[in-house]
Amino acid sequence: MPQTPSCFTVEHTYKQLPAALYALCQPTAVAAPEWLAFNQPLAEELSLPERYHATDQGLQLFAGNIVADWCQPLAQAYAGHQFANYVPRLGDGRALLLAEVISRSGQRYDLQLKGAGPTPFSRGGDGRSPLGPVIREYLVSEAMHALGVPTTRALAAVSSGEMVYRDEPQPGAILTRVAKSHIRIGTFQYVASCNDRQLLNDFTDYVIARHYPQCAAQPQPYLALLTAIIAAQAATVAHWMSLGFIHGVMNTDNMTISGETIDYGPCAFMEAYDEKTVFSAIDRRGRYAYGNQPAVAQWNLTRLAETLLPLLNADQPAAIRLATAALENFSQQYQQNYQQRMATKLGITHPAQDDERLINDLLQLLQQDQIDFSQFFNQLSQLDPAKAGELFSDKISWQNWMQRWQARVGEQSLTTGQRVSIMQQVNPVLIPRNHLVQQAIEQVTRHGDLTLFNQLKQAWLKPFATNPAYLAFSQPATEDERVQRTFCGT
Ligand code: AMP
Ligand code: MG
Repeated sequence: MPQTPSCFTVEHTYKQLPAALYALCQPTAVAAPEWLAFNQPLAEELSLPERYHATDQGLQLFAGNIVADWCQPLAQAYAGHQFANYVPRLGDGRALLLAEVISRSGQRYDLQLKGAGPTPFSRGGDGRSPLGPVIREYLVSEAMHALGVPTTRALAAVSSGEMVYRDEPQPGAILTRVAKSHIRIGTFQYVASCNDRQLLNDFTDYVIARHYPQCAAQPQPYLALLTAIIAAQAATVAHWMSLGFIHGVMNTDNMTISGETIDYGPCAFMEAYDEKTVFSAIDRRGRYAYGNQPAVAQWNLTRLAETLLPLLNADQPAAIRLATAALENFSQQYQQNYQQRMATKLGITHPAQDDERLINDLLQLLQQDQIDFSQFFNQLSQLDPAKAGELFSDKISWQNWMQRWQARVGEQSLTTGQRVSIMQQVNPVLIPRNHLVQQAIEQVTRHGDLTLFNQLKQAWLKPFATNPAYLAFSQPATEDERVQRTFCGT
């Protein structure tokens, strides 16, 4: 085995912040942990010492049974709007930040155990996580990373050998999550609610230094920070939309400051194109439906802006004017990102004004005929895109659109091969289809069988590659396989 160069660098900067922002807390040991997954490439990027790589010592560490001398566990405090209702004290009820690790590329990452037992923020919960949601988060967050979307990562997953009690008893598990930070819009809401100007100042300066250091040199650093977070989220949500990703529970405590996708609870990838698509069992009114995600992101960012008002200007009306102007930019930024991504999916490298109509007309056709979003773009990306036409029942409308598209891509000075290659780099062959995730969860939970989980984990590392071995994973769910509802990890 090649040795990872040993430059494991650990820090605890969050712990140096005022104590109001966290609670020190130890993990609670579990009875009989067993490995489910270990992310070797990520471990190497973090220069994690080999003694923790899929070893018994690693198992005990990632189960919370031992606390290594380089760990100083703490639960972070945060508030948040859950389905638009403000909850003043949420916090890490089942998560513990172990340490911050500096990666080989110099990036700081949080190492967090999720499901490691109760914390002062558990509010009566058990601090645990069932096995199913751990499998889902591992699979989907790593697939999102491979798809190029900013996201938290999964370093390890272990079963606990204990049951957790929800509607029915389920095996428990612990996920080790890696993120540029776990600071959320809800963290700012919590800080603002403390009514302590110094705390708000210090915390915001910490966030600037950690995530957006370029803002420090701007004439108005705090406005620059707000603008940068808005830009990061506009880009992330546009990326989700271009892939059909539905987060499912976009509460303000589930939206990061870094722009990374976080909290893979009831998330799912849309199949048949429909703006109204909702999978989450708890989202009864469709607040977090596919098509609502950009508007919800802007709503959440407005909550963030409110917390920053005292820093933007001492005069509140002036501060509100600045924040409003920054927030108004969200739509434009989102649209720009979204149109660029959708155009590239169609093989258009330099989108023009008119392309918006071409895109919208296509989406309408997809919706009318209930066509699988990812499968369609995948077929359109083939050298012979005619096969995509077989998906449509309305052949005339399809032919019309196809002719417009061909004329448009024909205007570009690209060979067909070049265009196809551009399209194949953005239109995945494989997405984490809901029924596959569900089947993997059932096999692990019911039979302790990791076969499908491991296959999917492997397949989704290369979502843009055509691999005959994974042909079955590229197909939409059959009527019998289709999963209509997904559930939170709680
Ligand atoms: P989530 O739905 O995972 O975003 O969690 C929302 C809030 O509920 C957070 O404050 C979590 O820490 C808390 N929470 C979720 N599940 C549990 C649990 N099993 N025990 C304690 N707190 C929990
Ligand atoms: Mg959460």
